Amino acid sequence: MTPMLVDPFQRAIRYLRVSVTDRCDFRCVYCMSENMTFLPKKDLLTLEELDRLSTAFIGLGVEKLRITGGEPLVRRGIMTYFNAMGRHLESGALKELTVTTNGSQLGRFAQDLFAAGVRRINVSLDTLDEAKFAEITRWGRLPQVLKGIEAARNAGLRVKINTVALKGFNEDELFSIADWCAREDMDLTFIEVMPMGDIGNEDRLDQYWKLTDLRARLAERFTLTDLSERTGGPARYVRVEETGQKIGFITPLSHNFCESCNRVRITCTGEIYTCLGQEGHSDLRGPLRASEDNGQLETAIRAAIALKPKGHDFDYSRQTVEGRVSRHMSHTGG
Ligand code: SAM
Ligand code: SF4
Repeated sequence: MTPMLVDPFQRAIRYLRVSVTDRCDFRCVYCMSENMTFLPKKDLLTLEELDRLSTAFIGLGVEKLRITGGEPLVRRGIMTYFNAMGRHLESGALKELTVTTNGSQLGRFAQDLFAAGVRRINVSLDTLDEAKFAEITRWGRLPQVLKGIEAARNAGLRVKINTVALKGFNEDELFSIADWCAREDMDLTFIEVMPMGDIGNEDRLDQYWKLTDLRARLAERFTLTDLSERTGGPARYVRVEETGQKIGFITPLSHNFCESCNRVRITCTGEIYTCLGQEGHSDLRGPLRASEDNGQLETAIRAAIALKPKGHDFDYSRQTVEGRVSRHMSHTGG
């Protein structure tokens, strides 16, 4: 048997996130500037290469695959790739195939995603107010996303809402978003804003709303019970006793989660990032394209995993953004 992927800190790599495009039909202010320069098409992995690369990782022990971007559902022909990954669900090698999306294209793709074997999806949504939604996403429209979410639920997909906590923007919607998710039986995760990429005039520190504050506000109204559940990722969960709903907190800045990190990320150009918060990465596209045989590719994957750092260096504590990384979130995928 091929030995599975274990990093120098004895963390087994079971979770792969693949960014299939750097493009997006939105321009969220914390993620992109309005005028983004996107990569030339020849730099992107083809759908066949995405299949081959993901399949190689699954062969090395990856059990969970999350497709992200940019906006994954704007990549042309993307269902070919989802369908290809479906075969690994059928064989049992892959336990879960999921996607993180802004929801704009779910009306078109929800049923196809379900047919490919996807059962749970994450939809990013920061406000339930139409005008604020247009402001924060610049190009997005709330009704389209709400229709997309409805289509997903009708298709049988379980939806989790991801909300970036933004000071002065959605603080006042904490309870309305939580109530909406409880009513619709959707889990909810709050994400702290991270210092990634040049985003134009927006100021990160102005946007930063500490999730410990957010949690304390929730606890004023609800009884929160900590759940021991860990996904190997940065989220910590509570159960809201009054509604039974599960709420997660992703706090890369105020809480260190790296010791249990079981994941790596692939960009749409085939770079592997073994830590979201570090610049270190290796190229897999070269070895992938060098030969039809996977020998070189597997060697390159193992070499990259051997360099997985212990943790990240994000730090807002000194009132300047330390440890920031220059690439955009849409490059590595959230
Ligand atoms: N376009 C898809 C979406 O929005 O769900 C997938 C890619 S997006 C980069 C993935 C997640 O990253 C989204 O939930 C988004 O809100 C989050 N995100 C983007 N930039 C971020 C930042 N600077 N800090 C924290 N989260 C960020
Ligand atoms: Fe697009 Fe997602 Fe970034 Fe918003 S967060 S601009 S939807 S990639």
